[in-house]
This record gives sequence, C-alpha cells and structure tokens, in this order.
Amino acid sequence: MTYKNLYIDGILSDLTVTDGSISHIEAAKPDFNNHNTNTVDCHGKRWALPAFVNMHTHSAMSLFRSAGSGLPLQQWLHDTIFPMEAKLTPDDIYRGALQAFDEMRASGTTAFNDMYFCTESTLRAAREKGMLGTVSLSVTDADFDNPEKAIQTRHFFDHYEHLTANLPPELTLAVAPHAIYSVSAKNLRYVADFACEHSLPFHIHISETQAERENCIKEHGVPTVVYLDKLGILDKVGSRFIGAHALWLDETEIRILGDHHATVVHCPNSNLKLGSGFRFLYNELRDAGVNVTLGTDGCASSDNLDMIEAMKVMSLLQKGTRLDASALPAEEVFRIATHNGYRALGIDYCGLCIGARANFFLVDISRPPFTILKQPDLTPEQRKHLFLNQLVYAAHGDCITETITA
Ligand SMILES: [Zn+2]
Repeated sequence: MTYKNLYIDGILSDLTVTDGSISHIEAAKPDFNNHNTNTVDCHGKRWALPAFVNMHTHSAMSLFRSAGSGLPLQQWLHDTIFPMEAKLTPDDIYRGALQAFDEMRASGTTAFNDMYFCTESTLRAAREKGMLGTVSLSVTDADFDNPEKAIQTRHFFDHYEHLTANLPPELTLAVAPHAIYSVSAKNLRYVADFACEHSLPFHIHISETQAERENCIKEHGVPTVVYLDKLGILDKVGSRFIGAHALWLDETEIRILGDHHATVVHCPNSNLKLGSGFRFLYNELRDAGVNVTLGTDGCASSDNLDMIEAMKVMSLLQKGTRLDASALPAEEVFRIATHNGYRALGIDYCGLCIGARANFFLVDISRPPFTILKQPDLTPEQRKHLFLNQLVYAAHGDCITETITA
C-alpha cells in the first residue's frame, strides 16, 4: 500500500508499506494515478507519526469507565473497584480488553503494557486486535493465599513456558505484583525471583500516594523504593523494573531507580482524578538516568485511553509546577510517549524509516487544531515544530483517522 502526499517530518512525502514494513519513503511525486487501488492519496491533509505506547494500562477496566468518581485511591479500590472485579469472568475481561484496544487504536496507540488478572483473556483480545506489547499477571497476597485464586496464580507460574511459547513475537509476558501495601515481602521476592529467572519485566505500582510513602516509612522505616531495594528486588530485575506512578519520591529513591536504569510510568490524568498528587519529578528522574514513560492507567481512573490528552497534561503539569513555560516541550513529551515506551518494552522500532515495522498513525491536519500549518513559506523544521505543538496542546485523539500496524 502506498500513501501519497502525506507529511513526514514536515516534508510532503510518499510512503509505501510492503509485507508489513516500510519499504519506501520519498518526497511526494506529482504523477499520482487515481485508479491504483493500492494507493491512497492523502492530498496533503494527513501527517504520519510513529504510534504511541501506553505504558500503564488495566485494559479490561474499560468496563468500569469513570467508576467511583470522587473517591480517593484506597476507598476507590476497596469500595468500588475490588468488589466489581470479584465478579468478573474471563470472558468479561476478554470483552473489556477488546473494547480498550479499539479505543487505543482509534487514538493512535498500538503498544501497551498491561497489568491485570486472567492474562490469557487479555492476550486473546490483543492478538485479535493486532496489538504489540506486554501483558503481565497482576497478583496480590490474596492470589497466593486464597485457595481458589491460588490455583489460577499457580497456573500462570507453572504454565509460563507453554503460555509464552504460543505467543506471537510482538506480545510478551511479565509479572506484576500490585503494590508494596498489597503484596508481602515474601511474595514480592518470589515474583522477583521468577522475573529474574525468566528475564521478565517486573511491573508494580510505586509511590502513588503520600499515604503509601508515609505508611511504608512507618512499617519498614524507609520509603517505597528503598524498601524494594532492601528486599533485593532492584538488583534482581534491574532495567526490567517498571514502576507505575512514582509520584512521591525523594532523592535517594530517584538515585536508586537511576542506578538500576529502571523505567517509571507517569499517569498524570489518573493521579489528578484520584487526588494522588501532581508533582512528578520528571527532570530529576530523567537526569538520574531513569527511563521516563507515559501511561493513562485504567479507564476507571483516567476515564479514557487518549495518549494525546496524557501528553498535554504531563507537559502542562511540568510547566505549572516548575513555574517555567519552557519545561517539557512538545517534542520531548512525544518522545516519552513513543520512543521511551518502546525502549522499556524491548521493542526494536526506529519509527518512520525504511525497513521499520509499519506502526504509525495518520493525523487529519485539515481540522481546526492544525490551521496554522496553512501558513506559506514554512521550512520543514518550522512546520514540524508547529505541528507537534498543535498535536500536544490543541488536538485530541479524535484527530487520528487511521492507525496502521503490521
Ligand atoms: Zn494502575
């Protein structure tokens, strides 16, 4: 398939996809033949960009969109979410995940990093929708202690080799202890040992609320990341450590995460909705060597899976909390939402270049957020800079007309 007359990096281009890869990119040629069924003429009204990676999802929670609005995290979890999750069947999780993947693809996301139970249901939905990414089994102490749940947990650990052998290369498995307040030290070590033995990502909620930090200090004498480090978790899983939220950190914790080349996932909309906090220490984490990525969290707390909205909120929070309008510019937050996510998931992807997997989306630049691009005499660099700023600050996921992935 050839896409003619679309913008790539500010230049009007033609792009060809052959057998799932980008085989050709060149400056647009005027000799367009309207009768070729393998060609789409974008008439200069589309802009191609690498697809997003949503680095912290609970896909099946699309079934619980906006549930428990107005409650703080612990009350929201115990009074609203856990009782509803207790009633979910594997088929519900499959259907919830299908719905989430439709929403992700419609807004330009093709890769995701999921944390939920019934991994096989989410994997089945991800395969059907052609998603890339990592599906992790989420466990709490109840998944080890409750006899009925323990069977399911054992099934994952005992049948891991079989589960992974049947996966396409674009989908991988991970383990996800829910958080330090819901998983004991013994079970955290067990899961980390398993992750270490099988070279799996270790995905966990960390330092999401001030209360988590204070309770950890009260109970263990140190804050969350230091506690995990003392348990030997960071040394065991190293750069495969993925900490979702990471809001309430001190300098020592940031240094520990940086020394281990860990990944953290900022979920600004979820943090704001649950009143968990807003002072994400992006510059400090980046400068310490932490791979900072972006996620929405599940639909129950972020209400949608729109990565454009998440980019905008992340960038605005940095500008606002640092009293610095130049903080986290559009180009950098776009890189966080794409490149850093692929790096965290170990997906080799160079973006829009010849030989890369076809994995991109098209933006309708004839819509109001992009009218400024009609200015004449823009250089490709100026056009690209304007476009990315309008994408992040003026547009929403519904400006995306098509998501293409192989
Ligand atoms: Zn979460």
